[in-house]
Amino acid sequence: MLQRTLLGPGFFLLRCCFTVMRIPEETIEAIRAAVDIVEVVGEYVSLRRRGANWFGLCPFHEEKTPSFSVNPRLGIFKCFGCGVGGDVFAFIQQIEGVNFAEAVHMLAERAGIPIPESEAETDDPRPALYHALRFAARFYFEQLSHPETGRAARAYLKHRGIQPESVRRFGLGYAPDAWEALLQAATAAGIRPEVLEEAGLILPRRERGGYYDRFRHRLMFPIFSHTGRVVGFGGRLLASNSEQPKYINTPETPVYHKGRILYGLYQARQALREQAEAILVEGYTDVITLHQAGITHAVATGGTALTPDQARLLARYVRRVVLLYDADTAGQQATLRSIELFLERGLSVYVVPLPPGEDPDSFVRAQGARAFQAYLQRHRRDFVTFYYERAQQLGQLDTPEGEAEVARTIVKAIGRLPDPLLREPYVRRAADLLRIEPVRLLEILEAQTSSPVSTKPAASPTPPTPPPATSTWHEAERMLVRLMLEEGKAMVSFVLGHMALEEFTEGPPRQLVARLLEQYEDGTINAQPFLDGHYGPELQRLTIEALMEPYEPSQNWERKGIAVPRLRDRAYEAAIDAMMRLKLQRIDELIHQLKKEQLHARHNETRLREIMARLSHILQLRRQIERRTFLNPELLPGS
Ligand SMILES: [Zn+2]
Repeated sequence: MLQRTLLGPGFFLLRCCFTVMRIPEETIEAIRAAVDIVEVVGEYVSLRRRGANWFGLCPFHEEKTPSFSVNPRLGIFKCFGCGVGGDVFAFIQQIEGVNFAEAVHMLAERAGIPIPESEAETDDPRPALYHALRFAARFYFEQLSHPETGRAARAYLKHRGIQPESVRRFGLGYAPDAWEALLQAATAAGIRPEVLEEAGLILPRRERGGYYDRFRHRLMFPIFSHTGRVVGFGGRLLASNSEQPKYINTPETPVYHKGRILYGLYQARQALREQAEAILVEGYTDVITLHQAGITHAVATGGTALTPDQARLLARYVRRVVLLYDADTAGQQATLRSIELFLERGLSVYVVPLPPGEDPDSFVRAQGARAFQAYLQRHRRDFVTFYYERAQQLGQLDTPEGEAEVARTIVKAIGRLPDPLLREPYVRRAADLLRIEPVRLLEILEAQTSSPVSTKPAASPTPPTPPPATSTWHEAERMLVRLMLEEGKAMVSFVLGHMALEEFTEGPPRQLVARLLEQYEDGTINAQPFLDGHYGPELQRLTIEALMEPYEPSQNWERKGIAVPRLRDRAYEAAIDAMMRLKLQRIDELIHQLKKEQLHARHNETRLREIMARLSHILQLRRQIERRTFLNPELLPGS
């Protein structure tokens, strides 16, 4: 059973060829080589380096401790919480919700590698929509600079103090006062009306067929995705005497999802990362005025209440959010909800109440950028103070019952912070303000956080080990595969000289080892085809798992109470240990099986004797394995 099989018969395996849709393999490899996976992922996840890997909070599931990691050398990412993993293309596919071809395009654009047009065609409607939207943005921009057509819009911008530099930065434009201006220009440029309609740019006429422009005589604010594509528009009415709504927006389309976009994010992204802080405002012009004044880390929800998706999007960039709070409007409830959403994502939240009747735009225009920034500094309140002051203003603290209720509300908000260490200073702050013993508040907090009511849905258990996706193979197999991939031919020869292929778990794990054997026979061990998915998605997934251990091997073993030195230093020692564990595992499975048979055969004496004999032989074998007598000294390195 434990015979040497390195040079044994070939094993049948399904050859799984992954042809990539019409985009040449060389182009894909060129893109892969040109982009840095840490940089790409880093635009969505704040990553920190630890050893060979970079770690961060997984963007694909809610978590509080990082189990998401990126390995730049291998060009792969892996989450040990939810199991997703893959290369840079897989990452873009999943985070952007695009197909493979589209992900290749996005990364090609980034790397400056051209993809021939004819090869790039797919059934995906989105490239056509992006094209139409880009065309429209350029068209509106040109109309704005047109001496005649754009006059009224330019006058408005001047009146609002929006400078030409900002017009360019935000790509502002003007939709002419006509029914078919865009429609005609776009169709003349070869864009089909159906595409324009799907992009939300034109509307079908109710009678007599045909279409008309959705945006007419409006100042146009293109809305960019965080990757810099135009995905929609907001249009502000220029006529003052119209019945029309002041602002209209692109409806939901395959590329525009209002709840997942933050206006100004693309322009703000650099500043957001540098300052680790965002200023959240409401309107387009607020963002533009603030950026113009040098406050370039301002973004807007675009006039709607903050969504969980938007909070998540912002949490990729910053650790701290400053909410501008307009005490006049009905937006109070929305502000409270926003605070909760940000707290849940572990962001620090500060609130700045604006002077009555002011919005950021009017404030900056009236008093200048410096005054505004000074105001932000002076008036920013942490969320606990904000809750308290608001309650005070509303007279909620006037009765003992009201006071208790406010205490509960504040503690509940504190309980949303995922980091227990951060809760403590806020509890102290609240205790000070409410003049309650901190211990009392901590008691309420504890009662709240331990009750199922306050636990958030989809919260992941921490730490996320063992990872759910690895249940298909034994931990020792994962180690052996990793060692063989990392150490190359000598290790493959060593491991497969001691292990039969049948000792590896049937299915993908065994197929993976057989592939390694194949590579061995061809002369070189190479992880890349595994990682690139050339042997199919299952082997790709297993390879990523094997190569991206969530912990350094030494830690891993120490946790399990196994004393094995560091992998890099003594890889063979690690291999021997893993082989031993795997062999013992298989032996124990066999013993279990035989014992079951023994039970069934209790009336068949011959069979019973057979089983007993096998059992005693196997138990002897087990002791040998434990003493490591299975090792062939000839195969040890340096012998
Ligand atoms: Zn995850």
